[in-house]
Amino acid sequence: MAELELDGITKVFVEDDGNEIVAVDDVDVTVADGEFLVLVGPSGCGKSTTLRMVAGLESITSGELRLAGERINERKPADRNTAMVFQSYALYPHMTVKQNMSFGLEESTDMPDDEIAKTVTEAAEMMGIGDLLDRKPGELSGGQQQRVALGRAIVRDPEVFLMDEPLSNLDAKLRSKMRTELQRLQDDLGVTTVYVTHDQTEAMTMGDRIAILDDGELQQVGTPLECYHRPANRFVADFIGDPSMNFFDVEVQGDRLLADEFAYPVSSETLSAVDDRTELTLGIRPEDIELRTEATGAHDFETVVDVVEPTGDENNLYLTFDPDAAEPETFIATTGGMNRVEAGQPMVAHIPEDAIHLFDAATGEAVK
Ligand code: ATP
Repeated sequence: MAELELDGITKVFVEDDGNEIVAVDDVDVTVADGEFLVLVGPSGCGKSTTLRMVAGLESITSGELRLAGERINERKPADRNTAMVFQSYALYPHMTVKQNMSFGLEESTDMPDDEIAKTVTEAAEMMGIGDLLDRKPGELSGGQQQRVALGRAIVRDPEVFLMDEPLSNLDAKLRSKMRTELQRLQDDLGVTTVYVTHDQTEAMTMGDRIAILDDGELQQVGTPLECYHRPANRFVADFIGDPSMNFFDVEVQGDRLLADEFAYPVSSETLSAVDDRTELTLGIRPEDIELRTEATGAHDFETVVDVVEPTGDENNLYLTFDPDAAEPETFIATTGGMNRVEAGQPMVAHIPEDAIHLFDAATGEAVK
């Protein structure tokens, strides 16, 4: 059982002038045997540092790292039974594909040559690069190089795959193809995997679960749908989803939430979740706003279309409550691409109560 446990993992870098940078702050997460966990967050949030600590490429300042129940903080990278795949591929340019893939086995195992050759051939076939074994990296496309890097990780038969933005150098089409391939491969091999990306779409589509980091701190760990439907805080709500969730500052007055532009009545159930808070942030996803032609209920608001942004199968509509403002504040609603909508057109936005999210304005914690 290759369960990987990060227990209070912290990394503090000390700069030359003594300044301390807390890159990873007390991170607790357990990656189950065979699970695909995606570590996601904006640039500089500590994803790579976390992965490098698991790989043994960076020391751990405090906390315990366990593989299959055993502490491995002090174990050398080569003895951790992990295989890392880098964004840059990190292939040896002077070696052929075959040599790149067999090198690690020759150096760190006593596997006989014929078995190494067989293992490499099998992994190359699995990655669809069986006919490229005698080429050098410079003679391969980016996608082929990435397959070699993955093949090299597979031949080591590791207990854990560690992947640091492995697809980000590929063009959009190839990236989405490789996403599916990687998932299938991980599923077939059943190897515990930690996959780092800053791309929320990659996280949502690939992870069994995702762990969202911001500023070194873990914000939420959950399935993609849990993080989408029940974000733990405003940061997660904003980070997951494209286009992002709309946010409005609101004040609680009686049974209504008052924003600059509208008053939103809420049920007693919502009020009891709000408790005695007075300042909140109301969030609504663009895809949860229903567009209507007539306002008939308390959750229907008259707006005007400011900008229409077609994305193909959908339109992103930038709506405003105040079209006469010099620079109107807008929020986004998505609608089917077949609907004809024009800038300047009046539009009623229905914001259903069961779709709104509420966050404590001060802490950002989800209230509802
Ligand atoms: P990116 O997506 O841009 O690669 P990341 O989420 O992987 O970012 P890290 O590379 O882990 O982020 O960096 C986390 C923080 O630690 C950043 O503030 C970074 O500047 C800092 N950091 C990383 N390595 C070092 C180092 N060797 N010395 C000092 N600070 C470092």
